[in-house]
Amino acid sequence: MRASEYLIATVKETPTDAEIPSHQLMLRAGLIRKLASGLYTWLPLGLRVLHKVSQIVREEMDRAGAMEVSMPVVQHAELWEESGRWQNMGPELLRFKDRHDREFCLGPTHEEVITDLIRNEYSSYKQLPANFYQIQTKFRDERRPRFGVMRAREFIMKDAYSFHVDEASLEATYQVMHQTYCNIFDRLGLNFRPVIADSGNIGGSTSHEFHALADSGEDEIVFSSTGDYAANIELAVGQPIKAAAVIADAPQQTVDTGSAHSIEEVANLLDAKPTSILKTILVHAADADGQRSDELIALVLRGDQTLNETKAQKLPEVASPIEFAENDAIEAALDCPPGSLGPVSLPIKVIADLSVANLKNFICGANKKGQHIINANWNDICKYDRVEDIRKVQEGDISPDGQGTLAIKRGIEVGHIFQLGKKYSEALKATVLNKDGKAVTMLMGCYGIGVTRVVAACIEQNHDEHGIIWPENIAPYQLIIIQIDAHKSEQVVDFSESLYLKTQALGIEVLLDDRDKKTSPGVRFADSELIGIPHRIVVSPRTLADGAVEYKKRAATEKQLLDKDAVIDFLIQNTISAKG
Ligand code: ATP
Ligand code: MG
Repeated sequence: MRASEYLIATVKETPTDAEIPSHQLMLRAGLIRKLASGLYTWLPLGLRVLHKVSQIVREEMDRAGAMEVSMPVVQHAELWEESGRWQNMGPELLRFKDRHDREFCLGPTHEEVITDLIRNEYSSYKQLPANFYQIQTKFRDERRPRFGVMRAREFIMKDAYSFHVDEASLEATYQVMHQTYCNIFDRLGLNFRPVIADSGNIGGSTSHEFHALADSGEDEIVFSSTGDYAANIELAVGQPIKAAAVIADAPQQTVDTGSAHSIEEVANLLDAKPTSILKTILVHAADADGQRSDELIALVLRGDQTLNETKAQKLPEVASPIEFAENDAIEAALDCPPGSLGPVSLPIKVIADLSVANLKNFICGANKKGQHIINANWNDICKYDRVEDIRKVQEGDISPDGQGTLAIKRGIEVGHIFQLGKKYSEALKATVLNKDGKAVTMLMGCYGIGVTRVVAACIEQNHDEHGIIWPENIAPYQLIIIQIDAHKSEQVVDFSESLYLKTQALGIEVLLDDRDKKTSPGVRFADSELIGIPHRIVVSPRTLADGAVEYKKRAATEKQLLDKDAVIDFLIQNTISAKG
């Protein structure tokens, strides 16, 4: 491609509304442009990358025996009513009406549509297992679209759905998909980790997320320093270091703590460690439908620990999403301000975290304004109803399998695989006849990859202060040829044109920077670094006079001079062969 006939939409300044490197660089390198919040146009250069990512995903899904389909973006409400999600999904689901006043939504995911298809197409266990995928536009009216295509409202997902007659078959396909995802992310050159993931409100099912490691990641992932354990922090478990007693075997005592409210203030005042103080957090209980009720529940953790909201809201008695009690509600219910709360004679349900269940001689709020109890112990008055794991694991905790300690890193969720079981097939009555001629509900798995998000994640992991450094497999072009002073030198034009045509004929994807003299050499160099094309040849009158051209690899700092007659062989070695 000739740059003179192409949209090179590079921008020098960093856009002020872009917070993370990938968002800044995608705008600056001219890969995307914003239309409106969470809506982006992919420009020619960006689209080439997106197509390459899609193609790698497609090849690996095909290799795994999945069948490609394409389902509508617009879906009718009746199907969603069958699954119950028309009622259950919040404002993320964008709903609208057609000219006949019928209700529709923009598909945020396609479980309903595929299950509807399969219940009509398949009738016998002999046709299973079957796995279908598509690479297609999704719409989710995200509460907070941000970071460009990383969390957009309209984005491209590869979603796949598998159908099975029994658990063993579902498990087998799930393992194949797990391996397929590893192959895909390896080919994309990502530094990634598969981690055990929260299976949401479905419960009990197996689920893994694939995270690209990056400081800008929205998720925290936890993994063992030496063992295999790896999990999303939402459900990670660990063993905290044991806490020491405040003062061993001293009598219990109520003390004035005045305006000391936070764990830190109480610890300072009483010269104690946060590990020996109870933290009491009040949340709203769930009503019969799991919705928020006015009733309150106390959650008790060790002072140095933090509540894991995902774990807490999974408890049947806690409202989901979790809702913390307002100060007024606490005072009204318990006649005590939040800073002096403790599980002492509390008239509400108390759930204790594992970190406090075995604590002895601890400090806790006395449930009286400005007072705490020291050397408290669990007894008939100071008590809990049940013990649960509701804490967020911390760096340095012992891994649940005892293998090493836990480290926490940030990750970008680029993929998610899930054993759905019968959640959708049961609701939509998707059955096949089994060996005995009896109708059985199919089991399902689903497998997503954020294709557009992957592009951003790759940039997060591959950039420097000058711009993007594309991995060979997904670079928009492999080679850029830059002309210097072509308006003054016929030799430069002749040589670069011939190199362009020859490399193109060899199948090398090449961009020729043949923009006119208004584009200075400095801008050409800066653009080539910003756009991040892996290999660069500079053709200038100065080096050509010595029979040479300059070569630089984007990822390297040093340049080298190549004999102009040896350039083609060099490029074959370093682009075609290197790409493999
Ligand atoms: P997240 O937790 O990031 O909101 P999710 O768990 O809701 O994602 P899934 O339903 O598992 O997402 O969707 C499959 C994949 O689609 C995700 O792993 C992610 O890579 C991608 N994805 C989800 N939401 C978005 C979005 N708003 N913008 C871009 N990609 C997304
Ligand atoms: Mg997910």
